[in-house]
Amino acid sequence: QHKHSIVIVGGGAAGIATASSMLQRDGTLDIAIVEPKAEHYYQPGWTMVGAGVFKAPFTARPMADVMPKGVTWLRAEAASFDPDNNTVVLTDGSMVAYDLLIVCPGIKLDWGQIAGLEDTLGRNGVTSNYRYDLAPYTWQLVQGLKSGTALFTQPPMPIKCAGAPQKAMYLSCDEWLAKGVLDKIDVQFHNAGAVLFGVGAYVPALMEYVAKYGIGLNFTSTLVAVDGQAKQATFKTETGDVTRDFDMIHVVPPQVAPDFLRDSALAGPTGFAEVDDFTMRHKRYPNVFALGDAGSMGNAKTAAAVRKQAPIVAVNALSVWGGGEPVAAYDGYGSCPLTVEKGKVVLAEFGYGGKLLPTFPTWIIDGTRPRRLSWLLKTEVLPWVYWNGMLKGHEWMVHPDTPAAA
Ligand code: FAD
Repeated sequence: QHKHSIVIVGGGAAGIATASSMLQRDGTLDIAIVEPKAEHYYQPGWTMVGAGVFKAPFTARPMADVMPKGVTWLRAEAASFDPDNNTVVLTDGSMVAYDLLIVCPGIKLDWGQIAGLEDTLGRNGVTSNYRYDLAPYTWQLVQGLKSGTALFTQPPMPIKCAGAPQKAMYLSCDEWLAKGVLDKIDVQFHNAGAVLFGVGAYVPALMEYVAKYGIGLNFTSTLVAVDGQAKQATFKTETGDVTRDFDMIHVVPPQVAPDFLRDSALAGPTGFAEVDDFTMRHKRYPNVFALGDAGSMGNAKTAAAVRKQAPIVAVNALSVWGGGEPVAAYDGYGSCPLTVEKGKVVLAEFGYGGKLLPTFPTWIIDGTRPRRLSWLLKTEVLPWVYWNGMLKGHEWMVHPDTPAAA
């Protein structure tokens, strides 16, 4: 059995950022990160890969390169949590004990919920920007399509980056418009939800693009089956099942808490780690915190949210470990740069209850309108901030309540 003072499960955006943030505060900390994968991905870049703006390798780095100096990387997969005994069990049966546990294994993409989908992903015109290996196929399909039907789907919430299903669609339409073929393509958006975007302030700008591109909107229409050979997709609607032919379909999979988390004592009713919305401390296990997509908080699940959460969890967890109480509160900030055309973004930034939380004053960037500056932010600035700021524990633009790193 290993023992580390602090054990972090998941070396994604949240795990690496939190470890770095803690080490910025105290470089002597004994932290282990449990993470099985050899690669770390900048997933927000996959929308751009699907639109031919980034090449896929731009969004991946060796895990070894992003592991903070001084951290013990346990190259293993967590199998279960035993919070009553302060241990994590790994899939090889070994156990890791901790004083402080940080839970951040992300969200599970549940492709299997859609009949026939897994067999045909990456073939027969069936694609998804939600996988590193498939995002380049989206771009290939978009370039190849000159006429026919293109379907874009959105599953029920919660999903990571709720705007990503639409982003794929708008950027595809932009390409077809530029090539002069958009009027020969029937573009349909099938959304399991009842609205275009959950925060109303951004909907008017998005509706202008829906009209410009001639997109058909189908609400409360949930993808349930894909037949790749026949090139047909079936949707559950309020009036029964509807089957549609397609030439290409961009699928966003249903998303759920990872199985091993859902089946553990740490899970709440939704399967995600049951933590306080503001302190991110576990509601029943005081030495456990969770953040990122695996947390039960009601924020928009984004890397932008993680950027704000990581320093808050770092200071709260260290305070609790030192015998104190949590000292910082998260306001639910999340951000979704809606790429409405190549060169323009509607920069949605909001917190709990849909409260708008813009980073910039309106005269610099009005987030409710398509802006060129927001596109530059998305394509040039944010990837750099992710690799060099957030993952390294350099905390610019964090929540004002968060005590600065020592
Ligand atoms: P992840 O980054 O997914 O990391 C989870 C880690 O846990 C992984 O490394 C995984 O290997 C590891 N893990 C899983 N199971 C185990 C286990 N059993 N044991 C140990 N480790 C485990 N966000 C934005 O801010 N802006 C955007 O524009 C944006 N666009 C997106 C577009 C797409 C197509 C996608 C897919 C995501 C997008 N996101 C965006 C969302 C963003 O990528 C996620 O919200 C963010 O990565 C969440 O961080 P995380 O650390 O919680 O999860």
